[in-house]
Amino acid sequence: MTRRRTFLRQLGASALLLGLDPTRLLQARSIEHPARPMSGERFSGGHMLSTWNHGIVSNEEGWRQMRNGGNALDAVVEGTAVVESDPTGTSVGLGGRPDREGKVTLDACVMGPDGDAGGVCFLEDIEHPVRVARKVMETTPHVLLAGTGARDFALAHGFTPRNLLTEDSRRAWEAWKQSAEYKPIINVENHDTIGMLAQDHDGRLAGACTTSGLAYKLRGRVGDSPIIGAGLFVDDEVGACTATGLGEAVMKTLGSFLVVELIRQGRTPQAACEEAVDRIMRKMPVADLQVGYLAMDTAGNAGACAIHPGFNYARTVAGTTELVDAPSRA
Ligand code: ASP
Repeated sequence: MTRRRTFLRQLGASALLLGLDPTRLLQARSIEHPARPMSGERFSGGHMLSTWNHGIVSNEEGWRQMRNGGNALDAVVEGTAVVESDPTGTSVGLGGRPDREGKVTLDACVMGPDGDAGGVCFLEDIEHPVRVARKVMETTPHVLLAGTGARDFALAHGFTPRNLLTEDSRRAWEAWKQSAEYKPIINVENHDTIGMLAQDHDGRLAGACTTSGLAYKLRGRVGDSPIIGAGLFVDDEVGACTATGLGEAVMKTLGSFLVVELIRQGRTPQAACEEAVDRIMRKMPVADLQVGYLAMDTAGNAGACAIHPGFNYARTVAGTTELVDAPSRA
């Protein structure tokens, strides 16, 4: 308070020196953005959004969690864990494509309604990074654990190590090594990261994001998915957003945080996702890269947008799920 008063006094003095009316400066400074611009009630019918086709099974599990009394955080963690266990999914958990050394390394994060967050990155041998991320959030004062530290933490919390490189993934990697072209193409045939957002029956928001990242990435590369504000951001006053696609482009624009802040300023989730995509398109050539954003607000509205066609998502409202094609901008 004292600091604020000193600041105001200094502001007034500077204004006088500049020949300005200090009361006008103070008025201008006191304009505040409303914390929650959306009119209307918080939605409490149960709302879930998940990236790509595999979002359907995630939402089904999320809905099961909510019906059994689980909250939004239970829904997103257990919903995305289903996809982590699917060996046919080549971009998440078990069966995820390895890095160029043939090692599967995983990134994940979660964020709850109180602003608490947890994440893991460059994690090996653990099938459920999203559950480890939840443990980081709930049992440590930290947000992000990496590499062997994250693995040791998981083992200490009862997670069992296993080989995540499936035979199919190993064969694909061997084939890739013939050309070893370091230019993973996003979103042509693979079904990318799972990012999931949920609003539970108390109207509260949570999100999770989990991935094996770019196929054949440089060893040690970490994408946007475990980075709070990039691959995922939740602000229970406003809304939530998750990203999929080329993590480097998402991180350069801190996309998920950007979308939530645009919603705070009064945009719909749809308009906010479009602006975040446009932001990338203004900053870099996008012919070879895909990014998709998926967002919800507290009133139960959804939005999604990608650079190129092909991004879809599963939406569940009050137990009914549909697969929706997102609009694109390129
Ligand atoms: N965003 C992820 C990453 O860059 C990739 C993806 O969504 O497929 O690691």
